Amino acid sequence: MSTNRTFTMIKPDAVKNGHIGAILEKITAAGFKIVAMKYTQLSLRDAQEFYGVHSERPFFGELVEFMTSGTIVAAILEKENAVEDFRALIGATNPADAAEGTIRKMFATSIGENAVHGSDSDENAAIEGSFHFSGREIY
Ligand code: GDP
Repeated sequence: MSTNRTFTMIKPDAVKNGHIGAILEKITAAGFKIVAMKYTQLSLRDAQEFYGVHSERPFFGELVEFMTSGTIVAAILEKENAVEDFRALIGATNPADAAEGTIRKMFATSIGENAVHGSDSDENAAIEGSFHFSGREIY
């Protein structure tokens, strides 16, 4: 069942490079409604748990180090077909492969430091959203 919600993070590279405003502008201009949002920083334990599915991948250490290296913006977004449409808006994992006009093409610097996260399924959107937000933080 589609929940019409997805979860995103503006990652530490994009925050450090001053792109929070521009990325939120792209997200809202594309028709997504922000139903929860916070400015925060992941602890080591948070990042290891959030990216647990990647724990056997060779880049896991780098990923955790990067994602804990600075502050992030976490948000739950609502729109019809949210997961798929948001993946299209952010573009391919590697910005070198991302289509023109996508968020990663515009703001990411490398496959690791790729500016934004977007859930890859409705199921993961729900898990990731509740990792960061309690029910009373979602509007
Ligand atoms: P996504 O769904 O497009 O975010 O991509 P994945 O689920 O495959 O990977 C999760 C995250 O791990 C990516 O967004 C990157 O930040 C990071 N990542 C993926 N591949 C690599 C890699 O080869 N090297 C590094 N350093 N990080 C990677």
